[in-house]
Amino acid sequence: MLHRARFPLVAFAALLAACGFDPAGSQAWEPPAVYQEWWAKTEACSGLSGDFERVEWLIVPGPSFRCSSGDCVGHWDPGHKIFVASDWAAHEMVVRHEMLHDLMRRSGHPSPPFGHGCPLTWETWHPAQQSSPTPTVKLLD
Ligand SMILES: [Zn+2]
Repeated sequence: MLHRARFPLVAFAALLAACGFDPAGSQAWEPPAVYQEWWAKTEACSGLSGDFERVEWLIVPGPSFRCSSGDCVGHWDPGHKIFVASDWAAHEMVVRHEMLHDLMRRSGHPSPPFGHGCPLTWETWHPAQQSSPTPTVKLLD
């Protein structure tokens, strides 16, 4: 009887885990100082303004993580949460792409501001150094 009684609890826990975006291993972290600079640049190119302090930053160890559209290097959550794969945490475009979602308070990539105004997509981003390798995983939610 005891082992049967545990079953509904396990099912309930699985249901809770499926609710909300929470990639394995994600942890809260303090954004580096340059992020404030990137935030200001993203406000400037989009003409939008928002509160940098309100964003909750989460880092996910590794090159990518599971997201609804496949494997992502970044993901924005409407609750002002930004998830970044640790391998991409220093990539200006990846980070600013997610910042722009927070400033717009929506997902999707209308142009402007994506592309026209803010070149924050793989297609429109032109980094100063051309040596960066083409990423295999590059989905940005
Ligand atoms: Zn996106």
